[in-house]
Amino acid sequence: MMKVFICPDCGWMRVVSRRKQVECFKCGQWQMTLSKIDFVKYTEMSEQERKDYADGWLYIHNRKSNRIHINRS
Ligand SMILES: [Zn+2]
Repeated sequence: MMKVFICPDCGWMRVVSRRKQVECFKCGQWQMTLSKIDFVKYTEMSEQERKDYADGWLYIHNRKSNRIHINRS
């Protein structure tokens, strides 16, 4: 069973099978988070869709800590 993990720090996504501990090769975060996207859906997504998903995911998961600031024009 393939699972899609996402890095809580940089949003990099990775497909992993049968592993509990998944490290991010982009930023060194030692434990990535299991995303809610299933593997089939992930393979059908374009690069842009994956980026959009990662951006949205990071926004949702970081908004409590106030690390993301939104500029309103
Ligand atoms: Zn990362």
